[in-house]
Amino acid sequence: MEKILIIDDSIVQANVLRSILNEEYEVSTSHTAEEGLRNATSGQYSLILLDVIMPGMDGFTLLKELQESAVTRRTPVILITSLTDVEHEVQGLIMGAVDYITKPFSPPVVQARVNTHIKLARYRAQIEKEAMVDELTGLANRRQYDKQCIQKWNDAIRLNAPLSICMFDIDRFKLYNDTYGHPAGDKVIAAVAGALAANLRRGTDFVARYGGEEFVAILMGSDPKTSFDHLRKVRQAVEDLHIPHTPPDSEWVTVSVGGITVLPKNGDTYQTYLKIADTMLYDAKRYGRNRVTWCGDGMEQWREK
Ligand code: GH3
Ligand code: MG
Ligand code: MG
Repeated sequence: MEKILIIDDSIVQANVLRSILNEEYEVSTSHTAEEGLRNATSGQYSLILLDVIMPGMDGFTLLKELQESAVTRRTPVILITSLTDVEHEVQGLIMGAVDYITKPFSPPVVQARVNTHIKLARYRAQIEKEAMVDELTGLANRRQYDKQCIQKWNDAIRLNAPLSICMFDIDRFKLYNDTYGHPAGDKVIAAVAGALAANLRRGTDFVARYGGEEFVAILMGSDPKTSFDHLRKVRQAVEDLHIPHTPPDSEWVTVSVGGITVLPKNGDTYQTYLKIADTMLYDAKRYGRNRVTWCGDGMEQWREK
């Protein structure tokens, strides 16, 4: 059951709304804006009903706070106003409320408006999710990666934690397509993605399809040698899928892996290190494919085989 939060200083009014919505939703109430804000930032609500006029922090100030918080920015807010409150309605809608309901409440109108906005929010969330996910593999897509890499980079600077950038490229994949056909190639891309995701599953790990038969991962917190050792296992996990292939150097589908671990500092750029990870990947190809080539902050290197 989806959850709705009512923020209203009037206990009577909140109870009336609750009784209108109780059957279809799990309803919570807060009787001050401060409590409402604390409650809302738990992020569990699908919609908020907000009274405009409250003692202490008023509804507009709270609305502004909700709009500014990353957790609540996307939660639709419906204002509760009285019939004479046209100015408040307009101001609230300009500030980002999705709708308003007027007192005295008409139960079917309240239900219809709430249902509509819950549905719209659900569609929006679904569309936003789809816009961020690669359809073939279910991994994060390039668009999500572009956002995440900046965020991860800034996190690493803030936390003074090492960050690893890792590029993967399926070996001799053109030959695979030429031999087995493009649809079979698509299945391989999905299978390799599955193996990467299954082996890079710490809360801070991020894996995306970079494009075509290339993937990128961003890992937080480990030193270069530990990252190198872990990526060797990931590379091996792809080989262990035992997907038949006929390149000159392996009987299975394999990936080459290149990466770098850095302790980012202000003034450095992510793109500089991404380029180095790409160079490492190029080296892995050059040294014979199906191997990991890794680089540390001081340009010290680890190479498989
Ligand atoms: P290398 O070992 O040097 O990486 O050789 P490669 O053949 O994998 O490299 P190349 O970059 O020449 O070829 C990549 C191939 O990947 C060519 C392209 O047709 C194929 N490819 C890219 N995206 C897709 C996709 O979505 N599906 C399929 N089936 N193939 C794809
Ligand atoms: Mg490639
Ligand atoms: Mg390739």
